[in-house]
Amino acid sequence: MTIRIEQSCPQCGAGVDFVETDHILTCSYCGARSLLQCGGPFRYVLPMAGKGSSAGLLLAPYLRFKGAIYLVSSETIEHRVVDTTQAANPSPGLPPSLGLRPQAMPLIRVTPDAGNLFLPQTIKASAIVEKAAAVGNLAPAGETFYHRAYIGEHLSYIHLPLVIKNQGVYDGVNDNRLIGLAETEGGSLNGRQFDHSWRIRFEAALCPQCGASLEGAGDCRIMACANCASAWEVGPAGLSRMDWQVQPAKGEAALFLPFWQVFAQIPVLRIVSFADFVVRSNQPFLPRPQWEDKAMSVWVPAVRLRPKVFLQAGRQATLGQWRLAPVQGKVRPNLFPVTLPSSEARQAVKLMLAAAAASPRLIFPLLPQVQLTEVAIRLVYLPFIDRSHDWVQPETGVAIGKNILRFGRSL
Ligand SMILES: [Zn+2]
Ligand SMILES: [Zn+2]
Repeated sequence: MTIRIEQSCPQCGAGVDFVETDHILTCSYCGARSLLQCGGPFRYVLPMAGKGSSAGLLLAPYLRFKGAIYLVSSETIEHRVVDTTQAANPSPGLPPSLGLRPQAMPLIRVTPDAGNLFLPQTIKASAIVEKAAAVGNLAPAGETFYHRAYIGEHLSYIHLPLVIKNQGVYDGVNDNRLIGLAETEGGSLNGRQFDHSWRIRFEAALCPQCGASLEGAGDCRIMACANCASAWEVGPAGLSRMDWQVQPAKGEAALFLPFWQVFAQIPVLRIVSFADFVVRSNQPFLPRPQWEDKAMSVWVPAVRLRPKVFLQAGRQATLGQWRLAPVQGKVRPNLFPVTLPSSEARQAVKLMLAAAAASPRLIFPLLPQVQLTEVAIRLVYLPFIDRSHDWVQPETGVAIGKNILRFGRSL
């Protein structure tokens, strides 16, 4: 589900169309583009019944998680897409989940000046997500798993306003009585002040190198400068420079799709070069002598995709990397936006190693001990050609359904 956020332009104050996964704001009135920065997940409050104000009220936290969970067990990689909003403070009387309510109306950002008090989070985010995903049901009974990864997730907090009146606690959104004040556990409804790390800062989206405006849709993680050809990753601490390259197209490429190329050595698997990887993961082809000098890299799609397609695309690009020779990047109109941050590509390395292994039993049991060393990352755009229902990458054979690429954007 998609959740809309009430947002105004920090330059001119006009209302802007904004969804929960966005962190780049483009104003259609004044044209200003701004980055939203926050030290942690974004925090919102559900709008009150009858357009009342939630200022000064007590707010109960709900964790919102949208993303995919992957589990590597003895022979297989299981995955599940999770989209949930669950209580992070299950005090008696409070609803366990917000259900579909966050979709009904645009949410409002939590701000320090509204004078709200916040019920503290009492359950860890990871415990909430695992319960919602029924991780227990993903792994076969009694079987332990070797690796677990959350990829492509959006995490935020949505708060439910609580109204205390008539000796009871009321749901501020639908005005239902939740519980009598006398039945709440002593002190369980004590709120805390706004935490300053939750504050949102707005920064103009300008190239730190040359000052030109940076381009990028609301959910994009990399903004490129058409003026000086630099690329910048949008992170919680601002823009950081990203090394990027493009694989030249033979003839016309309809589309360039971004991949993260994560260079790493893996001592426990004795993998330093691409040749080592081919041998240790038991690929059905022989390493060529020149692959001994080719540093090992794991390729991870830099776009959000359905789990099965994400694994397949990463696997094929990783196996076919010897056919690629990318060169310095140049901004062009058909670069597909990066929607998966580099931090998640690093988290996906073990998963991609598992996906690319020809013999699971040689790799999977060692995953818990895998530590990456000499890690470096860059962004590489690969050319894709139009093949009726699919986008196809000629060198590596990666094929991605056109409808899946559209779906992935909203995953
Ligand atoms: Zn504006
Ligand atoms: Zn620039």
